[in-house]
Parts: sequence; C-alpha cells; structure tokens
Amino acid sequence: METIGEKTTTTAPPVAELHLHIEGTLQPELIFSLAERNGIDLPYQDIDELREKYEFRDLQSFLDLYYANMAVLQTEQDFTDMTCDYLKRAAAGGVRHAEIMMDPQAHVSRGVALETCVNGVAKALATSNEDFGVSTLLIAAFLRDMPEDSALDVLEQLLDMNAPIAGIGLDSAEVGNPPSKFQRLYQRAGEAGLRRIAHAGEEGPASYITEALDILHVERIDHGIRCMEDTEVVQRLVAEQVPLTVCPLSNVRLRAVDKLEDHPLPEMLAIGLNVSVNSDDPAYFGGYVDDNYQQLVKVHGFSVPEQATLAANSIRSSFASDERKAELLEEVTQWVKESLPPQ
Ligand SMILES: [Zn+2]
Repeated sequence: METIGEKTTTTAPPVAELHLHIEGTLQPELIFSLAERNGIDLPYQDIDELREKYEFRDLQSFLDLYYANMAVLQTEQDFTDMTCDYLKRAAAGGVRHAEIMMDPQAHVSRGVALETCVNGVAKALATSNEDFGVSTLLIAAFLRDMPEDSALDVLEQLLDMNAPIAGIGLDSAEVGNPPSKFQRLYQRAGEAGLRRIAHAGEEGPASYITEALDILHVERIDHGIRCMEDTEVVQRLVAEQVPLTVCPLSNVRLRAVDKLEDHPLPEMLAIGLNVSVNSDDPAYFGGYVDDNYQQLVKVHGFSVPEQATLAANSIRSSFASDERKAELLEEVTQWVKESLPPQ
C-alpha cells in the first residue's frame, strides 16, 4: 500500500471480468511473433510503428485495425497462446473469473476453420483454473454489421460441434445495426439454453438498450453508458438492476467520452445502476481491468468501498455458479479489510 497525498491506493480488488474480447488482447509483441511464426508480412516495420496506429478517432477506426491484426491468428496454437497471455496478465491484475467473448465470424470469414479458433481458445480456458486461478466461460459474439443469417449459420455450426460456449453476445459497429436486427438469432440461442448479452448504448442511442432487453431478452448490457441520456431508461435499469459492463479506458480511447474526468461512471454508481469495470480490448485501449481501477482511483478518487461495490457487482452479475460467486465475494470482503487503513 502506498499513500499519495490524502488518498490511500491499493492493489485492484478481486473481480470478475465480464466484458473482454479475446482478439482485443493481442499485444503488438505477440502480433509480431505470430506473424513471424506464420510467415505473414505485416504492413508495419516494427512494434513502434504499430503502436502509433493505436490512436483512434472512433469505434470504426479501431475496428479496422482490430480486424487487420487478426490475420496473424492462423493455427489452434495461436489462439491458445493469445488466450494464455490474457489469462496470465488478467490474473496478475486481480481477475478471478472471466467471461470471454470471441468473434467466430471474424475468423471464419478469412478462411480459418471454426474448430481452429474455438478449440484454440477453449484449450487455454480448460486449464485456466489450475494454471492461473481464473475460472472462465466462453461467449460467442456475433458481428452486428454482418447479416443475421451469417450469425445464425455460425451459431448452428457451434451447436452442431458442441462448442463449449455458455452464451452469445453482439459486438462490432453499433450505429445503424440495432439489436432488433438479431431477434431470430437471440431466440434460437435462448431455445438452445444459452445465456444472452449484447453491446448497446456505447455509440448507439439509449433506445438500443431497451431493444436489447425487450426484443433480445439479454441478461446483461455491454457498455450501456448512453442510458444516461434517457431518464426513463435509467429508472428501468436501476429498478431491474440490469448489469452494465462499463469499460472506462475503452470509452476514452474510442472517444465515446472526451476524457476520463468526464466519464459518467461515478454518477452511474451513485444513482444505483448495477455497473462493473471491464477492459473491453485491453491491448488496444491502454489497460487491463486493474489499470482501469487504478485510473479511476487517480482521476475520480474512488474509495475502497466504492471499488468493492464495483467488484461485487461484477461477481454477482457473472454467470459463475453460486458457490464460486460466494467464494469471490468473500475475497472482496477480505480485500476491503486489507485495503482500509488501520483504525
Ligand atoms: Zn466490447
């Protein structure tokens, strides 16, 4: 523990990471080493030149680079290595449970077999508990800027191959691709017993949050920060305690908010929204979950009890078993005891 001015800072709390795209954990170093292993020519001379591209104007400018970099992911081992790197780093930053999204369509569309990407990620997740002390679940996310039929086709293939997925999500370019476009996909996922989540209200309007809840019957909203523009939506989210997986550093990098000082998270927490802190695409947005906490403490002065509330929200909003949730909530209680200054 170190003291800066009046404020006491500690290590980040134990959390569940609920909003994480595994492809967004590809660090420049790994991109270069996988490119070399697979004999792929990158359009960048070196890591520094690649890093310079990480200045984004908006969601689309990030997505362009994000999809381009995926070219280095070719073999099952590539997906396993990427996933292991994330788990190792996340564990070091306090992540104790992770619900990991992957974008199967982004790989299938460039000629990588569905089995290759799913099995590669799943292999790392299968030993994550032993290797890193992180329990995990895999979520297949679908690209909302592609047609619903493509998503339905991939979902059926995932079901046919008995892919170890716990649920489905919806990501990529939000504006102009409302949740209602995917009604059949979510109905099918529900019939198959899968959990349902969706990105809504990041760049898109608050009405997309309502659509995701009422038409797609999602249990969690990824991002959701633009709910703050609609009082009725906020009231509903508070009343129903719908989990919102907020990603502060991502919102700053993609210009959803100008700077962290302007981020609505403190207000969202204060008015009783069920918010948690997540990293989204940590390799691209300047930080993992613990980096997000650290910045929030620095910029917004989040107290130990406030951080504990965010951590407990993440655990309660997860799809982990009740037993695992109880175990992790106990860890949060312990963390509070260790983090508060002695009386
Ligand atoms: Zn996301």
